[in-house]
Amino acid sequence: MTAKFAKRTYKRTQFPIPCAQCGAKAPRFTEEQFIPDDEEYTGDLQVIKTENFWSGKDGEIGRLLRLWNGKDWCTLPYGNFCTTQCAIDYANNVVETRWRSR
Ligand SMILES: [Zn+2]
Repeated sequence: MTAKFAKRTYKRTQFPIPCAQCGAKAPRFTEEQFIPDDEEYTGDLQVIKTENFWSGKDGEIGRLLRLWNGKDWCTLPYGNFCTTQCAIDYANNVVETRWRSR
C-alpha cells in the first residue's frame, strides 16, 4: 500500500480553540492518505472526506482520504485569533475600552 501524508502546517491541540474575536473554530487536526483504487481503508481513523485522486507523476489512480482521530484539533494560525484582522480588531477594542473608562 502506498501512503502519502500531507505536510502538517498547524500545531496539534486537544481542545477546539475558538477565535477570541469572532468565535471561528479552528479546524480538526487531520492527515491525508492515498488509497489505490483496488484497496479499502482499513485504519481506525475517521474518514471525513474522500476525493478521487490521480497522480500525474507515477500514474497512480485512487482516492485521497482526509482522516481524523476524533480528538485532536489545530491551533489557530495567529495565537488566539483566526486572522490578523481579528487580532487587530480585538486589540483596538481593548484600547478603546480603556480610553472610555478614563
Ligand atoms: Zn476570528
